[in-house]
Amino acid sequence: MSLPETLDMVRQLVAEPSVSSPDASRDQSNRRVVERLAEWAESAGFRAEVVPLREDPSKANLVATLGEGEGGLILSGHTDTVPTDPEGWASDPWTLTEREDGVFHGLGSADMKGFFAAALTAASRFRAGELKAPLTLIGTADEESTMNGARQLLADGSPRATMAIIGEPTGLVPVRMHKGILMHRVLVEGRAGHSSDPALGLNAIDGMAAVIAELQAFRADLAEELRIEDFHVPHATLNLGRIEGGDSPNRICGSCAMTYDMRLLPGMVPGEIRTQLEARLRSRLDPRYRLVLEELVESVPPFAIERDAAAVRLLEELTGQEPRSVMFCTEAAFFQQLGAQTVVCGPGSIEVAHQPNEHVPHDQLVSGTDIYAKAIHAVCVEGRA
Ligand SMILES: [Zn+2]
Repeated sequence: MSLPETLDMVRQLVAEPSVSSPDASRDQSNRRVVERLAEWAESAGFRAEVVPLREDPSKANLVATLGEGEGGLILSGHTDTVPTDPEGWASDPWTLTEREDGVFHGLGSADMKGFFAAALTAASRFRAGELKAPLTLIGTADEESTMNGARQLLADGSPRATMAIIGEPTGLVPVRMHKGILMHRVLVEGRAGHSSDPALGLNAIDGMAAVIAELQAFRADLAEELRIEDFHVPHATLNLGRIEGGDSPNRICGSCAMTYDMRLLPGMVPGEIRTQLEARLRSRLDPRYRLVLEELVESVPPFAIERDAAAVRLLEELTGQEPRSVMFCTEAAFFQQLGAQTVVCGPGSIEVAHQPNEHVPHDQLVSGTDIYAKAIHAVCVEGRA
């Protein structure tokens, strides 16, 4: 089998649904996308492996390697998409459709099935024998829901490389920073009773009021503690998202729960932030209440790489674009923890991702292919790093 043409690969990948969602009724396997990628990678000379996720073997990562040895370059993307409602679309989400001149619509076209087509086309310009260091193509499962694909790579300590490019849609601008995410549910339990006598119970809404006051104080402290002006919102944020408690005005509320989301700056460690925050909530709240703090989803670590790192300078040179920060999250920190200098740079725009009529311009796929080919040449052939 020979490698299909770039747009044909995007078409075939878009046609294979691979939704990942915390909502089990919408969640799907990504196996067919990963298997297709594995076949194509093999036809381009890679050794390809489909690695099932231990937590859910209906999901799998792709790990494909061209060439041998240490170091080298990782090109990585996620193989899943968000769920979508076809009703909002002007064309079928799973049929790649050229709706404007050179602009192709389809679910995952930008986020990020187009990336794989560009990366494979770029890789097919090289033969294993000419690479002094390996090229690794990674396709992860479940980025849009749990990031369990990338978490498993990190747990297994592989792949390792000198450099990694995550092809999330950045309009081919190199991205060297994003925030991390922490989502908690906090539960305050008191004791229900008749409203006529406060001594008959312990009001959980009163308890939650203290928790909210402490969360607001913590938020203000975090915002003061660290600012990074490269971000559109230059400080950490904490959003109170949903609150639920009580049933009736004449009953003392026995239990109250709230969810919130925090966006952390690079340098803030999700586990440490949680520990600090929990200690403050416990010291603020009357100890007669029971307080339970749990993670709604596993946290995503923030990501940053130095402005003058070799990988940043290489991508700056290849794209002709100044490195930036973005407001969305990626798997970049996992690859960084595996030891690779990591930059996010891929075709298409994040503004159209997670939306009906998601699309990718053909010229971005062509330029992306070119940038990836030059990066492969620089890192794997010339040994630049
Ligand atoms: Zn994405």
